Amino acid sequence: MDDGTHGRPVALVTGSSSGIGAAIAVELANNGFDIATNGTRAEEDSTSLSPLQATGARHVYIRADISRKSDRNSIISTLREEFGRIDLLVNNAGIPPPSRNDLLEMTEEGFDRVIEVNLKGTLFLTQLIARWMVELVSGGRVPEPRIVNISSISSYTSSTARGEYCISKAGVSMVTRLFADRLSEHGIGVYEVRPGIIMTPMTEPVRKKYDDLISGGITPLKRWGTPGDVARAVLAIARGYLPFSTGEVINVDGGFHLRRL
Ligand code: NAD
Repeated sequence: MDDGTHGRPVALVTGSSSGIGAAIAVELANNGFDIATNGTRAEEDSTSLSPLQATGARHVYIRADISRKSDRNSIISTLREEFGRIDLLVNNAGIPPPSRNDLLEMTEEGFDRVIEVNLKGTLFLTQLIARWMVELVSGGRVPEPRIVNISSISSYTSSTARGEYCISKAGVSMVTRLFADRLSEHGIGVYEVRPGIIMTPMTEPVRKKYDDLISGGITPLKRWGTPGDVARAVLAIARGYLPFSTGEVINVDGGFHLRRL
């Protein structure tokens, strides 16, 4: 990925100590990126750390809760100090509701927390990084930075037992469109990767339910998605294989979004 003029590109992947984020970090590290990983734990989990170390890419872990303003500021100051640049932001951190409650019983506390992390954290981290990207582009330091938001099929699919999650992901889809529009004049592409049913720690508690839905044909491609499926879509964007697209949605869902008769 080093173009010989600008040096090795740098990617920040939020929520990358497990699941989809960890796979994205490794995929990018294997393809020429230096990586800043992020999570809320004091130290990076060894199960996600060793595959990343094996890539040989430069790697820094930033402990930060993206829902906190001071933590978002510390992400950017660490990036400035450690790498001095950012080429790719992957907004992956996300949480399910603290408990699955019917829409008629949804709590304000659960709603606030999910929105704070999935939507507000993503929005304001993007704002901070976008300002820096504009500076880097105008200074000729980084040629074509990009932003990828990991949303979900929940951004347009109703699940009445986790409405707050659906609402947060619908918001992430609009964040994608807004920043794609605003940053287009600076040559910064903004994309949304929309995963379907992916086997990760997040879906562990509902594995049986999804096993049954998949074998019943809910997805045209009858299998679980893997974190690697999502990571490869992010890599295609990171490599610049969608040069005349911005605000684009890439469905990584086994065809779930198709309407069938
Ligand atoms: P996961 O629980 O393994 O990963 C989520 C990561 O986000 C974890 O590493 C967690 O530590 C981190 N995180 C949570 N809150 C954070 C915070 N406040 N600040 C920083 N990091 C935080 O689950 P996953 O399935 O890999 O989910 C990754 C993303 O993909 C999420 O945004 C999720 O909504 C989305 N997604 C997942 C699926 C799926 O089926 N697994 C489907 C669609 C979308």
